[in-house]
Amino acid sequence: MFASLLTKRSLATLIKGQDAAKKIMSQVSQDLELLQKAGVKPKVVPVVVGDVAESRIYLDRKRAAALKAGLEFEEKIIPDNVDMPTMLKTIEDLNADPSVHGIIVQLPIPKHLDEQVVCNSVDVTKDVDGFTCRNLGNLVQGVGLGDSFVPCTPLAALKILQQIQQTEDIDFMGKNAVVAGRSHNVGLPIAMILQADHIKGGLDLTTTICHRYTPNEQLVEAVSKADVVVSAAGVPGLIKPEFVKPGAIVIDVGINRIKVDGKSKIVGDVHPDVAKVAGYMTPVPGGVGPCTVACLLYNTVIAARRQSQI
Ligand code: ADP
Repeated sequence: MFASLLTKRSLATLIKGQDAAKKIMSQVSQDLELLQKAGVKPKVVPVVVGDVAESRIYLDRKRAAALKAGLEFEEKIIPDNVDMPTMLKTIEDLNADPSVHGIIVQLPIPKHLDEQVVCNSVDVTKDVDGFTCRNLGNLVQGVGLGDSFVPCTPLAALKILQQIQQTEDIDFMGKNAVVAGRSHNVGLPIAMILQADHIKGGLDLTTTICHRYTPNEQLVEAVSKADVVVSAAGVPGLIKPEFVKPGAIVIDVGINRIKVDGKSKIVGDVHPDVAKVAGYMTPVPGGVGPCTVACLLYNTVIAARRQSQI
């Protein structure tokens, strides 16, 4: 019973994203070695439409991590007035380019482009963000099934939970989880992974999904019963300490820019005082974020290995 084990703590163990990312990166290094021996340098290409300040921060982080690890990272920058046929042709060309192993559509893209059609145009074998309907559909059948890709943030949440599971020797089977947020790239795939059977790569958690129309008292009730709380709602302070079951594992996927004393600051969805109640907690910044970047590189080397049959 891990809840009682973790309640002995007075403060949550904060999960440093960099430490969790290191474990993922050691797998990436092993795969890179195999690829290097075969003369393959994995390349990931983000398709970037226009100049979105938010995207720039993420792109720079991805670039730095990719280059540090020894992957190629080549942005395809397109003007923000691009039309759909040109956008689709750009992706088609990258799909056909054998030197490109991974393609990501850096979201958000301008409203005049159909995001769903654009994301689905990425070749499934190069879809290292796991955003195509094929890869999201595969997730329903099994986590990381066959030659599919799991979206990076959900994969990061899974890897963090698996690391805690190993450290504490705990069993999630049949325990309660809540996910706040049901976006098709983040909240929903996380919930799918949490609830999935361990035989299918999931965690067997009884999982409740809350969203913007869930009455707050129902969110509070679900959180108070949850051994695992994941928040991906984009609402600062949504998860308050008084809601959280002592010893729970709290994964904060929110990235919110707020102003404090006139200065811009990044905060998550989880109130910092939750650290006084939880057993484990991921901070923001520096929690799930660095792990998500590591998962992108992880998916890219897997893509390169599959495409090169290594
Ligand atoms: P992301 O893709 O990063 O998860 P989105 O903005 O696309 O972010 O999605 C936010 C999600 O959070 C939506 O599914 C929305 O319904 C959910 N959400 C918004 N407010 C709340 C709230 N107060 N409680 C729970 N979920 C919420």
